[in-house]
Amino acid sequence: MLPNYYCCSSCHEKFEFKFREAVYYLGPTPIGDQVADDTLLNVPVRPAWCKDCASVSLVEDIAPLRTFEAAYGAVRNGLPIEYPFHTDRMDSAGVRGEIEAYLRWRMGRRHAARALCCGGSNYQFMDVATPLIKHAECEFGFINGMCIISGGSYRTPGIYSPINVRVYTSEGDLAGLLTWRTADKSHWKVEALAYPRVVDG
Ligand SMILES: [Zn+2]
Ligand SMILES: [Zn+2]
Repeated sequence: MLPNYYCCSSCHEKFEFKFREAVYYLGPTPIGDQVADDTLLNVPVRPAWCKDCASVSLVEDIAPLRTFEAAYGAVRNGLPIEYPFHTDRMDSAGVRGEIEAYLRWRMGRRHAARALCCGGSNYQFMDVATPLIKHAECEFGFINGMCIISGGSYRTPGIYSPINVRVYTSEGDLAGLLTWRTADKSHWKVEALAYPRVVDG
């Protein structure tokens, strides 16, 4: 689980996630202005410090292929799994379909895990025992995670307000932003969104 935010132990500056979830688009055609719900898969993520953006961010959590094969085998034997997704409270047909989709995605994935803020790889994971991360202009502090346990809130994502979840290609390239659900709830509208272009020189 992601901490609610991170805080510097010295100056108490607060660092929050700009977004807390992301999805892959795995459809057969290039992404358009809407995508079918069943072509989306949650991105497994870990909290990290992106050194290029100097902020708390999410990095793709891409385990070795054998981990996905083991999860696939467990599901076929009716056992629960926790990675690449939690199977509790899911029906078995849904679990089977989803683990197959993850396995197919993992077999095709080539690019190393990216920081989902900028697509870069200049990051440090924060879910380790002592992530000694310092920020600019602060000599003495280390950035620690803060968790606040809060009750679940009722929401209907994409119906009364846009869900605003970033959608990525199977290689972790930012491809758009999911906003509203279509009336029949089978699709999401997509706004254009891409990584900031780095201009050399
Ligand atoms: Zn500080
Ligand atoms: Zn970044």
